[in-house]
Amino acid sequence: MEILSSIKEIKQTLDKERQKNKTIGFVPTMGALHQGHLSLVDQCVRENEVCVVSIFVNPTQFNDPRDLDTYPRTLEADYALLEREGCHYVFVPSVEEIYPEPDTRVFEFGRLAEVMEGKYRPGHFNGVAQVVSKLFDIVEPTNAYFGEKDYQQVAIIRKMVSQLQLPVIIHACPILRESDGLAMSSRNVRLSALQRQKAPLIARTLKESTNFVSAKSVSEVIDYVVQTINKEPDMRVEYFEIADAYTLEPISKWSDAEAVVGCITVYCGEVRLIDNIRYL
Ligand code: AMP
Repeated sequence: MEILSSIKEIKQTLDKERQKNKTIGFVPTMGALHQGHLSLVDQCVRENEVCVVSIFVNPTQFNDPRDLDTYPRTLEADYALLEREGCHYVFVPSVEEIYPEPDTRVFEFGRLAEVMEGKYRPGHFNGVAQVVSKLFDIVEPTNAYFGEKDYQQVAIIRKMVSQLQLPVIIHACPILRESDGLAMSSRNVRLSALQRQKAPLIARTLKESTNFVSAKSVSEVIDYVVQTINKEPDMRVEYFEIADAYTLEPISKWSDAEAVVGCITVYCGEVRLIDNIRYL
C-alpha cells in the first residue's frame, strides 16, 4: 500500500494504472476509521482492480469550529487497517494541497440541501460537494463508495454527479452497526462510558417504530420516536423526519411516497449522532 499526499503524485500514479486499463475504485473518508468505513473499502477492493482511499478532514464542511477541532485523528491506526483490508493507495493531502486558495464555488442542490442536515448544518453540503468534486477530479474513479449512514449525503453526491455529468458510478453501502445496534461512527469515541451505554436507544427506537407503520400515522410515529429518545436525560433529538426516500421531502401520509426513510439526529451530551431507517 502506498501513501501519497500530493495531487501531482497521486494523479501520475493513477494515470499509470489507467494506462494498464485498470478500474479504479474510490472511498473518500475523514479518517478515524472503523468497521463501517472498512466495509466500503472491502466492497471497493472486491469490485475494482485498484482501490484508493482518501483521508482528509475537510474544513469547509464543518459549520461548527469546535466539531472540527475535536474531530478524532488516528492516521497511523488508519493506515494499518487499510493495509489489512487490501487498499492500494491512500491519499492524505494537507488542507493547503486541497485549498491553495479558498473555494468560492456555490452548488445549487435546491430543496435536497435545505431539508434535514441542510437546515441544521448550513453550508455543510456545499463543503461536501466542494471536496468530493475536487477528489473526483483528482482520482477520476470509475466507482465511488459512500455509506447510507449519511443518507442525505449520498443523495447530494448523486445530484452533484448528475449536474456535473461526471463519469463515476456512485455506490450506496449499508450502515454498519455495533452489536447493540449503534450506528458505527468516528464520533462514537467521544461518548462517555455512560453515554455509550445509552446511545443504542436511537437505533432501537427507530427499529421498533417500523412495526407501527400499519397502525399509526406518520406524525404519531414521529412523536413516538422523539418522545422516547428525549425521555432519556442527556439525549436530545435535533430533528427526526420521515421523508420520501428519493426527494427527502417530508411526507404526511405513508402513501405519499413509494419508498420512505426516517432520518434522525440526536445530541448525546455534546456528541452529534445521526442514523436513519427505511420504513417502506
Ligand atoms: P466519514 O469519514 O465520516 O466522512 O465517512 C466516510 C464514509 O464512510 C462515508 O461515505 C460514510 O457514510 C461512511 N460511513 C461512516 N460510517 C458508516 C457506517 N456505520 N456504515 C457504513 N458506512 C459508514
